[in-house]
Amino acid sequence: MNMFIHDNLQTIGARIRTAERHYGRVPGSVQLVAVSKRHSAAAIRAAYAAGQRAFGENYAQEMLAKAMELNDCAIEWHFIGPLQSNKAKVVAQTARWVHTVASLKVAELLSRHKPPASPELNICLQVNISGEASKSGLALAELPDLASQVAQLPGLRLRGLMAIPAPEPDFNKQRAVFAELRQALEALQAWGLALDTLSMGMSDDMEAAIAEGATLVRIGTAIFGTRK
Ligand SMILES: *Cc1c(COP(=O)(O)O)cnc(C)c1O
Repeated sequence: MNMFIHDNLQTIGARIRTAERHYGRVPGSVQLVAVSKRHSAAAIRAAYAAGQRAFGENYAQEMLAKAMELNDCAIEWHFIGPLQSNKAKVVAQTARWVHTVASLKVAELLSRHKPPASPELNICLQVNISGEASKSGLALAELPDLASQVAQLPGLRLRGLMAIPAPEPDFNKQRAVFAELRQALEALQAWGLALDTLSMGMSDDMEAAIAEGATLVRIGTAIFGTRK
């Protein structure tokens, strides 16, 4: 067994449990998505042997290649990268979760290509909240329309929202940004959508995200080391 990956998973797991306790979250309500982009199938296998099941990938072809190589493992693949229309088919056939839906067009393609025999594809809408460095994600103002449309597409289950805030060292400022995403989720819930997921928090802002209600945190480097 790869002890480096095993120990890192233990450390991250302990950090999550500590933050859950500290911020009054239900124990076990925050799940770890191990972000394995640009790490080998062998590294994923080591994390799997240590008990990790949810893995995040950013590139459709890379996710597919790893899913094929690791098809003896009961891995739950999370697609967390920018999603182009021409990759929607591969993603719909491989992933159990897609965190980065930001247009009706992509959602419709995922709906169309989701294999009939597999369970509903879990969807998060990626929101461009304040200070976001990347250009991806939809504006908060566009959220109600897209959410209501995506919630009706067959084969998809709209679960919640995702964001990648710009790096911010100050804890309270991190929290303020995550609070915006939480409030957006609460507004959609109040509006009648049955949503339960906030995909937010990475290595350097995980505690702030958990304080504001994250249910999925996405951690790569702190588990697998630096990427090649
Ligand atoms: C790469 C990536 C992560 C993990 O980043 P690390 O710095 O390796 O922990 C999380 N979320 C998304 C969307 C990513 O692309």
